[in-house]
Amino acid sequence: TLRAALKVDIVIIGAGQAGLSSAYHLKSLGLTPGRGFVVLDQAPQPGGAWQYRWPSLTLSTVNRVHDLPGLGFAEYAGGDASVKASVAVPHYFAEYEEHFGLQVIRPARVSVVCPRGERLRVESDRGLFSARGIINATGTWEKPYIPDYPGAESFGGQQLHTRDYRTAEQFAGKHVLVVGGGISAIQLLDEISKVTRTTWVTRTPPRFREGPFDEDAGRKAVAMVEERVRAGLPPRAVVSVTGLPVTPAIEAMRQRGVLDRQPMFSEITSTGVHWDDGRTLDVDVILWCTGFRSALDHLAPLQLREESGGIIMTGRLATQVEKDPRVHLVGYGPSASTIGANRAGGAAARELMAYLGLEEKRRS
Ligand code: FAD
Repeated sequence: TLRAALKVDIVIIGAGQAGLSSAYHLKSLGLTPGRGFVVLDQAPQPGGAWQYRWPSLTLSTVNRVHDLPGLGFAEYAGGDASVKASVAVPHYFAEYEEHFGLQVIRPARVSVVCPRGERLRVESDRGLFSARGIINATGTWEKPYIPDYPGAESFGGQQLHTRDYRTAEQFAGKHVLVVGGGISAIQLLDEISKVTRTTWVTRTPPRFREGPFDEDAGRKAVAMVEERVRAGLPPRAVVSVTGLPVTPAIEAMRQRGVLDRQPMFSEITSTGVHWDDGRTLDVDVILWCTGFRSALDHLAPLQLREESGGIIMTGRLATQVEKDPRVHLVGYGPSASTIGANRAGGAAARELMAYLGLEEKRRS
């Protein structure tokens, strides 16, 4: 097309924890927001995917929201743990963007990034950008994952994914089948089982871990995911390594008898599900708490994937794409947590600035 693209050094795509941390670091390394770099974010408001979280997810039921660099979360959250995460975090991010003058452009959805020789062309519904490098921080919320099971299309009831969940009351009087063994599955099972009948299925037996979350297990889990992405394998959920910490809520669920986990069914029928051993179960709702995948479709023309389908990651915190070092993925793989995203933003900003020779230019 003949439309002119705005030339910048770096485009950050996404303004969640990972994108904002990256923006903070680019700015403190000397790039000017809005000119040296721009941040494009699809969401209508600040807050990244936190603005979409279900209302019962409060600051007492999240694991922990890590501070962004340079300005603490605690002062915005106050001491009230009952406040909704979908309110507190967006409020914090809004203040943060304002405080550091990050000039996030929103809503701005990036549809595609194409290689243009030395440059990358970023197409968005708020205009075209021509960049020397990109930091992709698009998270996973836009890409819910539901595994394929035969018969899914014949099911006469309702099928939902974690991201559609609002409140347990919407299921009153219905038999709900909760699928999945992660933290979200357990939290939603807890809430729904208090108002209606539930059945819980997981692919592998859930591994509960007694005692408080230990940092060593967390570090090992992150290291394992990091090893996978450095080898070009798809990242994996951290819970698969750490196990589920037994919280008081989980202990109470045990006592109420709602943690009677069933193995995964083999088929979906018009009225419910069917197991290989011949058992069947009628349900009204199948709630897929089966996680998310990284939202990377807009990067397809860059051909970052190997023949195996994976992306080989390199760099200090494995944020840099080996095949195209102008591209960093933050909040991806080992950095898919608020603390990980936060650190990854710093590493990506420094490495990309260095790779593009921007640090030297600034110093000279
Ligand atoms: P996001 O917050 O998802 O931000 C991505 C942004 O990019 C969004 O604003 C999105 O609109 C935008 N975007 C996406 N695609 C495009 C596009 N094509 N163009 C432009 N913009 C785009 N982690 C913890 O550390 N502690 C917790 O307690 C915790 N609880 C969680 C609870 C739930 C229910 C879930 C789902 C996750 C939880 N996590 C938690 C994980 C954590 O939320 C994320 O890993 C973390 O927030 C990383 O954010 P991000 O910046 O990568 O992504």
